[in-house]
Amino acid sequence: MAKTKYIFVTGGVASSLGKGILAASLAKLLQARGLSVTIQKLDPYLNMDPGTLNPYEHGECFVTDDGAETDLDLGHYERFLNEPTSQENNITTGKIYSNVISREREGGYLGKTVQIIPHITDEIKKSIKSFGEKAFDVVITEIGGTVGDIESLPFIESVRQLRWEMGDNSLVIHLTLMPYLAASGELKTKPTQHSVKKLLEYGLQPDVLVCRSEHEISQHLKNKIARFCNVVPRAVVAALDAPTIYDVPLLMMDEELDKVVLEKLKLEVGEDPSLSTWRNFLGKFKNPSKKVKIGLIGKYIELKDSYKSIVEALIHAGVANDAQVDLEWIHSESVNKENATTKLGHLKAVLVAPGFGERGINGKIAAIQFARENKTPFFGICLGMQCAVVEFANNVLGLASSSRETDDKTTHPVIDLMESQKKETNKGGTMRLGSYPCEIKKGSKAYQAYGQAQIKERHRHRYEFNNAYLAQFEANGMKAVGVNPASSLVEVVEVTDHPWFVGVQYHPEYKSTVANPHPLFVGFVKAALENS
Ligand code: GLN
Repeated sequence: MAKTKYIFVTGGVASSLGKGILAASLAKLLQARGLSVTIQKLDPYLNMDPGTLNPYEHGECFVTDDGAETDLDLGHYERFLNEPTSQENNITTGKIYSNVISREREGGYLGKTVQIIPHITDEIKKSIKSFGEKAFDVVITEIGGTVGDIESLPFIESVRQLRWEMGDNSLVIHLTLMPYLAASGELKTKPTQHSVKKLLEYGLQPDVLVCRSEHEISQHLKNKIARFCNVVPRAVVAALDAPTIYDVPLLMMDEELDKVVLEKLKLEVGEDPSLSTWRNFLGKFKNPSKKVKIGLIGKYIELKDSYKSIVEALIHAGVANDAQVDLEWIHSESVNKENATTKLGHLKAVLVAPGFGERGINGKIAAIQFARENKTPFFGICLGMQCAVVEFANNVLGLASSSRETDDKTTHPVIDLMESQKKETNKGGTMRLGSYPCEIKKGSKAYQAYGQAQIKERHRHRYEFNNAYLAQFEANGMKAVGVNPASSLVEVVEVTDHPWFVGVQYHPEYKSTVANPHPLFVGFVKAALENS
């Protein structure tokens, strides 16, 4: 096999320019040309992973099959490439330092002074290069943060060293911003020039510049940037604001980003890919034949990125149903029994989101009661499923019960701490994480959606359905229709006397991709459409 090629994506001028989407789009284009590609994100913060971060800090925590709690960009990678990522796809400064310090304690550097260069940088380089051993044609490594940040310096230095070692087998794409000055009606190139100068100070010459802009970038301006930044004009790529993230691969193809990259890496360019599945998806996404209003009930709705994978999964499921999901964001703290009809009465379906802790719980339970009693299609994910169980216990079984998470002393802990969690004292990386098998019962809504009994889904939780109450629930119309075969842990509950009432302990949203919309989301949107 030919040598693995490495592409590094850095960012300059401003944060949030979309390095993740750019990396995922380029990866999609290279994949469509027949290459095997993976994407890695290096995050320059000291947490071992984002698992201990509040969503307000960093948006959703994305979970991989092998149980890594990762940056939400990995969700984009999976949704675009339809390939799973893993522990190695997200590395933080915390992880790098932890490895180096553990090795120091073991005597791995005996007699030596342990330093940022070479020990930290060597550890970073090792994590980047570990992918080559897994036989990918191309590894795209996205460096989090903005060039010039103190925090990301060891990452940039590692890229400098790797570029030197790898030569033509690697390249750097620098994503910058070209601001538009409305008063003079001009796009300005100076911030890009400065950002590239900053990279040059660190010994890194970008090979390709991708310039985010609100306006068309003329050839004249591209030439100007090229001249100031030591790149050929073709390697100055305009990234205009796109209507949706799913437009970006096609826009990048129009700008020939993939061709420029392939030529620079001395890879065969070949025919342009048709990307027919992608175009088909985008066409349907933009021209839906109908609309359906669905409510998303959560407590982090001020930051929409907190529910990134759910939102994307609803988009995929909408397209699969030839419909546009018109999402209404509803703060769980704003819902109560008295206002539920006003707040939710117009919705065709209700999704209650995952979460942690007590805030907003009562609103979620009130929303679920409304959906159950009014036969509004309901989808509860993780905490959403647990709230559905508590609601059923309270209002159908007549038990004054709670989840152990919100009331330590509850007499009826219908949701209880998992046995395996009782001994855990650390918070980081200790939940039930990653992919586990589940057996789905025939005749259930879940079975109807999946079309099969054996499934695997990803988890991230500490609490579980308390099987001591199972018989009582089942006798009264809430059934456990999905169970983990090894532990008997209840993974899916359904209310039988209801058009579509499904609660899942796992997170199906992590597995929905453009190529494979998640069957439960597809079933849920279908039920919403049928609820006229
Ligand atoms: N807080 C709940 C638990 O730990 C639910 C977690 C979630 O929604 N991801 O079990």
